[in-house]
Amino acid sequence: MNHPTRRILTGDRPTGPLHLGHYAGTLANRLRLQESYECFFIVADLHTLTTRPGRQDVARLGENIREMVLDYLAVGIDPQRSAVFLQSAVPETYELNLIFEMLVSVPRLERVPSLKEMAQAADLEAMSFGLLGYPVLQAADILLPRATLVPVGKDNEAHVEVAREIARRFNALYGEVFPVPEVMLGEVPSLVGIDGQAKMSKSLDNAIFLADDARTVEEKVRRMYTDPRRVRADIPGTVEGNPVFAYHDAFNADRAEVDDLKERYRQGRVGDVEVKARLSRALNTFLDPIRERRADVARRPGRVEEVLQDGTKRARHEAILTMAAVRDAMGLYRLGSE
Ligand code: ATP
Ligand code: MG
Repeated sequence: MNHPTRRILTGDRPTGPLHLGHYAGTLANRLRLQESYECFFIVADLHTLTTRPGRQDVARLGENIREMVLDYLAVGIDPQRSAVFLQSAVPETYELNLIFEMLVSVPRLERVPSLKEMAQAADLEAMSFGLLGYPVLQAADILLPRATLVPVGKDNEAHVEVAREIARRFNALYGEVFPVPEVMLGEVPSLVGIDGQAKMSKSLDNAIFLADDARTVEEKVRRMYTDPRRVRADIPGTVEGNPVFAYHDAFNADRAEVDDLKERYRQGRVGDVEVKARLSRALNTFLDPIRERRADVARRPGRVEEVLQDGTKRARHEAILTMAAVRDAMGLYRLGSE
């Protein structure tokens, strides 16, 4: 099959609002690349079922999906260029998922580190068949539009590796249908949470959301974890691994200010209060245009639905082409073809 040379597939699970970690890990790359790549951004609602299959969780999906598309449009994803689509509305996903399930072993999937973490975080008694298959479903997402590049955060790197192996295995067994997609990590592959303990995550209550208002940001920055040994401003502090500086590095556009703060922090010539006040200001400067665009889009009734409908149509078109090539390559028996 002919491959487009520059095509992206990536996306997020609609489990809640997007946060600064999503931005640093993958959204920034999407924005940078959407002019030079043909992009497919997936709202991965089926993937939420792997850890949250409950009736109430499913009932919340509609609202979460709409909020997430709003977040996308707010950060500047351009639906004219890029297809934003709903995973469950592309039935070929289920089809290719099943075929891919035969091309990877259980022990291989059991070695994917993030799956155990997800099972633990979700308080699951035992890993479900579906959760073990998380990276297989993701491989179907990536390979249905025959993507060549997958911009994701660090926790997803191992999943893309599974997709690469499945693509190679399929091609070796049945003939060249799929490109072997490359992974691309963000400039901050794993942004730490405001608790300084783990990666920023909506489930850990340590996130600053793209939709947070200015006062919420200030309040979260005020209780952000810093260097715990620094009980007074004149004690030299550690910059490396300090979340406050990780955020300054990632989001403060005033590099001179960041360098000056780091130097004074190391020398014990600036207090945490000032470093944090400047961080709040920088974050709010970064978030302001996102908030404005969010409000603009929210004022247009039906806009989110329209974007998803249009993007899903485009994604489905590619999925149908791919599945025809898959069936052809495999030589699956065709009923009524005699
Ligand atoms: P969360 O971890 O906040 O619950 P999630 O796991 O539901 O979010 P995913 O849909 O798994 O979100 O991730 C969406 C994308 O964002 C992935 O590419 C992931 O690697 C990236 N990402 C999520 N959190 C971070 C983070 N703290 N730093 C960098 N990238 C991140
Ligand atoms: Mg995750």
